[in-house]
Amino acid sequence: MFFFKKTENFQCFCFKLRDDSSFLTVEFHRTVCYNGSAGRRAAPAGDKRDGNGGVRGRENVRIYLSGHEYRYAVEQMLLTLFPGERPEYPAGEPEGERLEVALHRAAVYTTASCALLRGGKRFRGTARAKNSALTDRITTERICQRLVKNAMYRAALASGLRRPVWGALTGVRPGKVLLPLIRAHGEAEALVRLERDYDVSPERAALCLDAARHTLAAADSLEGRDVCLYVGIPFCPTRCAYCSFVSQSVEKSMKLIEPFLDALLREIEATGEQARRLGLRPVAVYFGGGTPTTLSPEQLERVCAKLESCFELSALREYTVEAGRPDTITAEKLAVLRAHGVDRVSVNPQSMSDAVLEAIGRRHSAADIVAALETVRAVGGFAVNMDLIAGLPGDSAEGFRATLETVLALAPENVTVHTLSLKRGSRILAEGTPLPGAEEVGEMLDFASARLRAEGYGPYYLYRQKFMSGGFENVGWTREGCVNLYNICIMEELCSILAMGAGGSTKLIRHDGGRNLRFIAPKYPLEYIQGIDGVCAEKEQIGTFYRESGELEE
Ligand code: SF4
Repeated sequence: MFFFKKTENFQCFCFKLRDDSSFLTVEFHRTVCYNGSAGRRAAPAGDKRDGNGGVRGRENVRIYLSGHEYRYAVEQMLLTLFPGERPEYPAGEPEGERLEVALHRAAVYTTASCALLRGGKRFRGTARAKNSALTDRITTERICQRLVKNAMYRAALASGLRRPVWGALTGVRPGKVLLPLIRAHGEAEALVRLERDYDVSPERAALCLDAARHTLAAADSLEGRDVCLYVGIPFCPTRCAYCSFVSQSVEKSMKLIEPFLDALLREIEATGEQARRLGLRPVAVYFGGGTPTTLSPEQLERVCAKLESCFELSALREYTVEAGRPDTITAEKLAVLRAHGVDRVSVNPQSMSDAVLEAIGRRHSAADIVAALETVRAVGGFAVNMDLIAGLPGDSAEGFRATLETVLALAPENVTVHTLSLKRGSRILAEGTPLPGAEEVGEMLDFASARLRAEGYGPYYLYRQKFMSGGFENVGWTREGCVNLYNICIMEELCSILAMGAGGSTKLIRHDGGRNLRFIAPKYPLEYIQGIDGVCAEKEQIGTFYRESGELEE
């Protein structure tokens, strides 16, 4: 239950009656404007962020644990609250600026407490649960870790941290928390628990629920042998300023395309052999990268033809190719893709402002994107996704609105709205490029959400990333009946992904609660080419996994 009172500077007072499953407590917070809603955040004491929720520079924070060893939970929460800080665990008596995180079990309650010492002040947070709720080992671990995180979260809020829109929720997949709640308690109760136990804002909880419905529908549509295929093509015409993926001299690496393709075709053969032997059934193919349409029509033809000859594709429901950069899209390439059954392309403007495109290192204009879309529509037969990024250098809330309106006028079937994620190795971070603040990024996302819903789009998958501006999220929006199954499968781990190509991450999923298996191919073209024997040999693990896990047994 919440009582709000707004003041003229948009800060609010909140008296919150909290029910943490097993106890009630009354909390008082001075600031409850969610990050991204109205109001500018006062930097919390000792905040090492750059005002965008991004990383200004990594600094160490001393952490002292007592009564538990939940380092992973503590570090997840630290990354969520103070992404610029790196944990260290000094020996000896606590001293200096620090975090003390303790867990104590008494007769009736188990209580986590956190003391955050910053700027000569001490901020406290606590969370507790009744011992009677700690039934077995797994439940005890889960609840105790949540208590530790909540105590840290409350201490951070007490220090002046603006309340994150995702509250105390950590991790990249909010659906992983919501889906089990829906299965156990139904939608309405799950929503209540997400807001109450994790302090997620009502808007984000609703977003998560909408996406979860698509996840449940997708899960119901899949069978035990269904898998997705991913093909990674690590080449782009130039490197974007926010990218940490492609090797620095992209133009120079173009000479590696042919040897890369030779290696890729070998890997497709090795993977296809395993899939056929096991009777795995590809339901979705996704070409990502990089920008796959950097390849020539003839090169695309070779890769598509190889895939067809090595896999049984009769049950395929969708075939997607990222054609992210308009400067790589031609009618000839699109005709090759159509001839091989590709029915989805992703054309990714990121922004429709020429100034912003220049600032992020794109060598094309907004008009080029419109022209690329015309070419895609003229060839015909493709559902189109368009990616946008909120928070790019040089952009503003007004500029982002104009971008979205231009994109909506192009009527794509899907729009994916990303929040800028600052990756180490990216030019933006290296050069300290000024960026829109978290508040402005929040405005962009709020506008996108309202506008897309008004145009008949709904959210169908979402995820968060480390070092994301303002701690927000990426959301895939779709018109009715146009969801991209692959995006849901990979994000919610609904079925195995057999990946091929540079940086391809094969993930083999167990549905019985056992450990999934993941292995990743080298991400740089040269490393991949040189390591192709090992990459192909690794495919044996697919057969071993399925034989040992019993996943294919009826
Ligand atoms: S298109 Fe994507 S992969 Fe290529 S340089 Fe830009 S961000 Fe990186």
